[in-house]
Amino acid sequence: MSFRIYLSPPDVGELERKMLLEAFDSGWIAPVGPDLDAFEADLAVTGGVRSAVALSSGTAGLHLTLLALGVGAGDEVVVPTLTFAATANAVMYLGATPVFLDVDESSWTLSVELLAAFLAERAAAGRLPAAVVTVDLYGQCCDYDPIAALCAEYGVALVADAAEALGASYHGRPAGSFGRAAVFSFNGNKIITTSGGGAVVSDDDELVRRIRHLSTQAREPVAHYEHRDVGYNYRMSNLLAALGRAQLAGLDDKIARRRAVRTGYEALLGDVDGLSFMPVASYGSPNHWLTCIRFDRRCALQPEAVRLGLQAAGIEARPIWKPMHLQPVFSGAEVVDSGVAAQLFAEGLCLPSGSALTDADVAQIASLVRSTPRS
Ligand SMILES: *Cc1c(COP(=O)(O)O)cnc(C)c1O
Repeated sequence: MSFRIYLSPPDVGELERKMLLEAFDSGWIAPVGPDLDAFEADLAVTGGVRSAVALSSGTAGLHLTLLALGVGAGDEVVVPTLTFAATANAVMYLGATPVFLDVDESSWTLSVELLAAFLAERAAAGRLPAAVVTVDLYGQCCDYDPIAALCAEYGVALVADAAEALGASYHGRPAGSFGRAAVFSFNGNKIITTSGGGAVVSDDDELVRRIRHLSTQAREPVAHYEHRDVGYNYRMSNLLAALGRAQLAGLDDKIARRRAVRTGYEALLGDVDGLSFMPVASYGSPNHWLTCIRFDRRCALQPEAVRLGLQAAGIEARPIWKPMHLQPVFSGAEVVDSGVAAQLFAEGLCLPSGSALTDADVAQIASLVRSTPRS
């Protein structure tokens, strides 16, 4: 399906073109190179941590982070049910088992209450999970103070899936600076893109060094090909890192524009009865990756009718993530379900939110939403 306006398309310009061609002309076409080193240094700064390793995808980052933290077959890993499948897939790659916990209505992120109850119950049973993976959903951080305190209390590793949240903050601290390590994504639809890519950021230099090693086929630093571990081919290339550096330089502008897009939708749709916006938690500042709305039972509009109306006009909107515990592939998984994620899936919609969206686009989309035939 092709659209005139996409949900969150890449937003690239002259600087991206220039830096990509400079990298090309420099001769660093081979995987590593100066742009890769510089991109990693910049990412560590943006994530508010000491080290970063750039990889072929965010999913690869989740996989190698969990692997490097020792998660393996037979382990359980807590994952919020409201996320993109990549979070849970990374757990499956390791032969571990995801346990899905529901989210909090006030932030749409992992419920602190459910996590506290779950860890207490598992501690009593003597079978704590190997890790908790939080998800900074649609660019909004989780409530990290209590989550980190719980993980510390029970000695469970905390990993932040910040794939959607580059540039967001929590009590003034950047997304990426929570947990043992955090993962960013630079997929084509994320707030910045390297066409495809990701990174792991952490204050733990040794962990990052280990992940870098695993991402390059675990080659030992000797002339012949010597391997002590099973490795992966997950490293980002220098050319894509050049693209990433240019994108990262524009991150603040992209966040400002996405915030303005949300503010525009709020001004134009805020008075529709029963329509609300994803809450902004008082503890932080999201990057406003996607503007998500919700139609409650009082609303005369239905999300699927709105989506189809936009589609007929060549505009892409998407349902909220379908919760993992409702996915056929995870049908056997354990879930602590309070019904919130399922209700958000039934009532929610993500509106086009790209940073190149014009005010006229926002106005047209809002007016189409309003004029959707009532059921
Ligand atoms: C995009 C995304 C990922 C995966 O990132 P890729 O770079 O596409 O592999 C993981 N988790 C969440 C929540 C995402 O939105």
